[in-house]
Amino acid sequence: MSDRLPGFSTLAVHAGAQPDPTTGARATPIYQTTSFVFNDADHAASLFGLQAFGNIYTRIGNPTNAVLEERVAALEGGTAALAVASGHAAQVVVLQQLLQPGDEFIAARKLYGGSINQFTHAFKSFGWNVVWADPDDIASFERAVTPRTKAIFIESIANPGGSITDIEAVSTVARKAGVPLIVDNTLASPYLIRPIDHGADIVVHSLTKFLGGHGNSLGGIIVDAGTFDWSTGGKYPMLSEPRPEYHGIRLQETFGNFAFAIACRVLGLRDLGPALSPFNAFMILTGIETLPLRMQKHCDNAKAIAEYLAGHPAVASVSYAGLPNDKYNQLARKYAPRGAGAVFTFSLKGGYDAGVSLVSKLQLFSHLANVGDTRSLVIHPASTTHSQLDDAAKVKSGAGPDVVRLSIGIEDKEDLIADLEQALGA
Ligand SMILES: *Cc1c(COP(=O)(O)O)cnc(C)c1O
Repeated sequence: MSDRLPGFSTLAVHAGAQPDPTTGARATPIYQTTSFVFNDADHAASLFGLQAFGNIYTRIGNPTNAVLEERVAALEGGTAALAVASGHAAQVVVLQQLLQPGDEFIAARKLYGGSINQFTHAFKSFGWNVVWADPDDIASFERAVTPRTKAIFIESIANPGGSITDIEAVSTVARKAGVPLIVDNTLASPYLIRPIDHGADIVVHSLTKFLGGHGNSLGGIIVDAGTFDWSTGGKYPMLSEPRPEYHGIRLQETFGNFAFAIACRVLGLRDLGPALSPFNAFMILTGIETLPLRMQKHCDNAKAIAEYLAGHPAVASVSYAGLPNDKYNQLARKYAPRGAGAVFTFSLKGGYDAGVSLVSKLQLFSHLANVGDTRSLVIHPASTTHSQLDDAAKVKSGAGPDVVRLSIGIEDKEDLIADLEQALGA
């Protein structure tokens, strides 16, 4: 073996996996089992007491899921990861380790519509209070910090407009406030942006999107950067204080730079229960093997389509950070030099009605609520994903009435342009 460090594409195929030691199976087997036999009574006791690593029950961990966890941790440059049932489950599990009732977290206002709902309504019932900031105005994060702030949450490439967040600038605010920066890296994937390289302490993903990549399996993941000191100021008792359910051990003291991933597993996943099915882990692992190839094609197609739309007479504006005159082009060059992603919006001169009409005329594009599929997708956010927001909030989050969102797939770009041409023209 050479002592070269493997590159990204090699890690996408191999990280975390090895031939099955009993059968020689080369693809990672689906360990479709709920539970695992202990060697003896001492082994069982040490697993339950967190004195040994091993498999107990699939709600807490599973060997197929473990390969997925190791692979995504390697691709993101983290110390460890925890796979869960969906992107939303990842967000709940992360914040449950950080917030007590009455605490606050700051979130960028430009987010996936489902996250806006989850933060505004569901989390409120847990006593977790979201304070919104504007990702285009870094000072708004600083102004939002209070003694009860426990975390900052942003998207690297933000839904729905594909805008790029200045991760390093927000990370500086988080450092100063003494709280971790959580980055939802779903729309970028680690192929385009590795937030940990820019100061993120925790990365979350909806694996449902580009990582799985084929629109067939839900999943989520939490990556621990291993960068945050959880012991300061008693702000994070789940990590720094003795845990009664594990004979009084302190997770940070015992597990060091992967304590956060352990907390998410042994306190979050174990007790809240959103475990990922090993079958879905297998589907997502298979998807990840081609992530670099797919992501490049997604981005190249998206750029060509954004350029086509920018020149179309029915189009008022295109919001794609990969276009040289876009407001976010400088940030895209810095953070995502391989491409600015494949999800973006454009607005139609004909407003709301033109948006609804376009969506109904497209044939190759599928009209549905998802992104990051091999297939090209379209949605009109104002009448669907963002319909619960009032008009001002719609515009602020980039989902005004005239806005259409595309998620560009890996088909031939000429066919996608022909479909847009017939739908816009007719
Ligand atoms: C889809 C999505 C989520 C939620 O993920 P699920 O797997 O649907 O629960 C969170 N963030 C972003 C950016 C997403 O696109």
